[in-house]
Amino acid sequence: MTTEFLIQNADTVLTMDDARRVLHGADVLIRGGQIAAVGQGLQTAGEIVSGRGCVVTPGLVNTHHHLYQNLTRAVPGAQDALLFGWLQRLYPIWARFTPDEMFVSAQLGLAELALSGCTLSSDHLYLYPNGARLEDTIHAARDIGLRFHPTRGAMSIGESDGGLPPDSLVEDERAILDDMIRVVDGFHDPSEGSMCRVGLAPCSPFSVSRELMRDAALLARDKGVMLHTHLAENDEDIAYSEAKFGCRPGQYAEDLGWTGDDVWHAHCVKLDAQEIDLFARTRTGIAHCPCSNCRLGSGIAPVRAMRDAGVPVGLGVDGSASNDMASLSAEARQAMLLQRVANGADAMSAYEALEIATRGGADVLGRPDCGRLEPGKRADIAIWDTTGIASSGSWDAAAMLLAGPTQVKHLFVEGKQIIRSGEITTLDLPRLIERHGEMARALASSF
Ligand SMILES: [Zn+2]
Repeated sequence: MTTEFLIQNADTVLTMDDARRVLHGADVLIRGGQIAAVGQGLQTAGEIVSGRGCVVTPGLVNTHHHLYQNLTRAVPGAQDALLFGWLQRLYPIWARFTPDEMFVSAQLGLAELALSGCTLSSDHLYLYPNGARLEDTIHAARDIGLRFHPTRGAMSIGESDGGLPPDSLVEDERAILDDMIRVVDGFHDPSEGSMCRVGLAPCSPFSVSRELMRDAALLARDKGVMLHTHLAENDEDIAYSEAKFGCRPGQYAEDLGWTGDDVWHAHCVKLDAQEIDLFARTRTGIAHCPCSNCRLGSGIAPVRAMRDAGVPVGLGVDGSASNDMASLSAEARQAMLLQRVANGADAMSAYEALEIATRGGADVLGRPDCGRLEPGKRADIAIWDTTGIASSGSWDAAAMLLAGPTQVKHLFVEGKQIIRSGEITTLDLPRLIERHGEMARALASSF
């Protein structure tokens, strides 16, 4: 197998290095799993990949997803509902899932992400019906070859305890903590260049107890893994926090150990100025999910204010039940557009949105070895053909987000070519789509 590639004579290379260099007519040399050199006139004894007519970027990083939801796209009754009503429509369907559904849905979701330029994805799996386990998704990521940060999610407050999910989807808190230990010990790889890092992720403050939030934080510190949850997603969420806990979500998070550079929260649409300051001081990260926030009518996250304050921000496509199109390049475009809706046309450039989608996400996930094109960093690289119809006539690489394309031509993860000329090399995509579609139709026929 080729272990050396030279991406040669790319029209534009967006390095996202510390100087944010933008190079023209440049090469990127990949050796093993790392970037060996970036510059002009590089030589190789390995394989040459033409960069002519292309923009080369670091692979995009997805900081929030629920891969299992690919089987519940555009579900009638959940298409136009607000968050809590949406959850109640979908829970009974998800309760039917088995390990097969988890695996196939994750494969489909990861393939979709890869085509949209993603090389590193996290996932938040917080329900384990019918014997499903976190490794169902880990195996899916290993097969396709994406770098993966699965998180062991959890729900413990069911309907009979005044919670939202049906009792069949919640777990005993002792069993949750035991399984968190099992998956960290079994699958977490802390080394540089790691292809799999496990995080701990109670679903949200309204689906687990205060004790589980606290214990998960203590366990994460003990094991040296990261923490993730949903926070301050919409007005209902803030009202629940104030009524139930007597404080805003930022205070709740801080009290239970859920701030720090080893924590990232999804959404945070409703953070106020004090909470933004808290997250900036503690380097607590945010997974910004603009399409999901639009789809569920949650609002516009104050990303401009967060970035200006120094809060680490990455992008997330969120689950396919609340953003039916899980394209990370489209998500970056939406992030740019939404800040402009809130703050004006100069509020976010295409380059800044791409920075959030690459380097920003890598930093949120604790991966400074990813998200930049510079020697010594991991060879996670997206190559975008700008000679097609989407970007024809464009004068600048900013067309990547202002126009297109939305799918990559080539994709490298850890120096391996996962996508070649638009085709995934590691799995049979038409067969996967067929199997996935059959599964979804089988579920739909009983609801
Ligand atoms: Zn989510």
